[in-house]
Amino acid sequence: MRRLPRTPAGIAGIVLVTLMVILAIIGPPIWGAGAERIDSTVILQGASAAHPLGTDNLGRDILARVLVAGRLSLTLALLATLIGAAAGVVLGALPSVLPRRAARLVTGTVNALVAFPGLLLAMFTAVVTGLGARGAVLGIGVAIAPGFARLTQTLAASVAGADYVSAARMLGVSRRRIMTSHVLPNIAEPLILNLTQALGGALLGLAGMSFLGLGVQPPSFDWGRLLFDGLGRIYVTPAVALGPAVAVAFAGIGFNLLGDALAHAASRPAVTAGKDVPRAVPGSVEPGLDEPEPDAVLEVRDLTVTFPGGVTPVRGLSLSIAPGEIVGLVGESGSGKSLTALAIGGLVPHPGRVNAGRLRLCGTDLGELPEQERRRLLGTSLAMVFQDPMSSLNPALKVGGQLAEVATVHQGASRTEARTRAVDRLEHVHIPEPDRRARQHPHELSGGMRQRAVIAMGLMGTPRLIIADEPTTALDVTVQRQILRLLREVTDETGAATLFISHDIAVVGELCHRVVVMYAGRVVEELPVGELASGAAHPYTRALIASLPDMDTDRSLPLASIPGRQPSPAEVGGGCAFADRCELATDRCAERPPLIPYGKAHLVACWEAS
Ligand code: SF4
Repeated sequence: MRRLPRTPAGIAGIVLVTLMVILAIIGPPIWGAGAERIDSTVILQGASAAHPLGTDNLGRDILARVLVAGRLSLTLALLATLIGAAAGVVLGALPSVLPRRAARLVTGTVNALVAFPGLLLAMFTAVVTGLGARGAVLGIGVAIAPGFARLTQTLAASVAGADYVSAARMLGVSRRRIMTSHVLPNIAEPLILNLTQALGGALLGLAGMSFLGLGVQPPSFDWGRLLFDGLGRIYVTPAVALGPAVAVAFAGIGFNLLGDALAHAASRPAVTAGKDVPRAVPGSVEPGLDEPEPDAVLEVRDLTVTFPGGVTPVRGLSLSIAPGEIVGLVGESGSGKSLTALAIGGLVPHPGRVNAGRLRLCGTDLGELPEQERRRLLGTSLAMVFQDPMSSLNPALKVGGQLAEVATVHQGASRTEARTRAVDRLEHVHIPEPDRRARQHPHELSGGMRQRAVIAMGLMGTPRLIIADEPTTALDVTVQRQILRLLREVTDETGAATLFISHDIAVVGELCHRVVVMYAGRVVEELPVGELASGAAHPYTRALIASLPDMDTDRSLPLASIPGRQPSPAEVGGGCAFADRCELATDRCAERPPLIPYGKAHLVACWEAS
């Protein structure tokens, strides 16, 4: 909200919406009597000093009626929007809680409704439910609902894949509870932002319905009704129709501008850490790991992420990264890699809880910083690159503008300076024609180019730490290689530390200096990349390596895979979590093996490591 007034759209939106709200409050008590006063001596007059917008067929002052009609117009628009939003959110959430067949039916219905012209849907509903304000409100509500349903479905689907939702599912939490406790709270913000824009649309829609004679009926009147009444005289006394038309246009534009500005203010660049997210709470440091490392860019000790119900996807993780070092964090899906990255960036979604014995970035303990300073440090020193660049880039904004925002928000740069720097950064990550690309929207760029743009966004500041979470998974092999080369180049040039997260141990082996292997929320092995091929000591690391094809692999046979599946966070017991899949498991493995030194710069957590 603090950033809104900085944009012309934000200022215009706030001013217009404030004026409309004031008008709705003071309009009827001040001008109500004038709006209803019948004067047969001034019937159907044009604009004059006494009646700036003329009079109607009963001699009533049009200007007073326009000012009074604001309250009804805005109230009906608000009602229609709330009805549409509530119906849409329920429709959008239903597929997540219904059985598969019913869910498909709901999704198909929503898709069909989205494709149906909104005004026709509104008119049809209004005719069925009866002419008048009630029918018009229901009609516009029904027309708005599919858009909200589609938005809710899309947002819910994006949250549904999160580790914490998977964990809740594994724990047997009901679908309804997952939707209400885990999904809806995390998608509330864009839905609320959409409400503002929908309000502008509803206002215009209702005016249109009244204008068509399907909305508010006499003696009540809203702006659409006044427009309808004045239309017949538009060529003789245009002011009669102009007044309500201007009011409708200003209100519609005001709500849309405010909605756009709110959406713009709420869209966070990829390098910005979250505000209202759980932050690391200092806890106990594991014995033997309590020596601070003054030179490390990132130092994490005993990091734990928990969710309600005792689900703990990350358990006591410790790692550190030196300047210029690339550390690979590898493991199967659900091992807690991505949550580790989110916890470092302060992005673990509600209701997750982060505890850490130590969480230091550039020598500063994040847990001890005041909120604003913590955000500033994360915003300027940490760059995050996610798997899907589209989720890091706002599809509604131009690429250059999004990059520039990092410099204006975090570095206080002017708009011109920020824009010049954005183009420079795009060029730095080898995006051809950076000036033109900066003026394009994300969907106009290829997948590889989008990922480069996200990396460029990270470079708008002076990142000391880059966290790349599966940044190449969605890209083809050639582009994958280019992005990996770029990450190495950026690390070498800037001296930043990089945490590279991947499920692909081959890619990690190619790019990184050191490898940290995670299994079921814990680090099970940490070793220099040079030892990966022949020096890995943990059976899980060896199994990951063995499942990679090489030149000697018999192509006629299926690729080797690790039998069984990784336990969910709720299933992890007190012993070694890998025991069910391990060929070397013994009775001793019922006790959890500690992570202990195993040669130089090599740690392993296995009783049978050899
Ligand atoms: S501790 Fe036991 S079960 Fe776990 S990896 Fe080692 S041998 Fe296998």
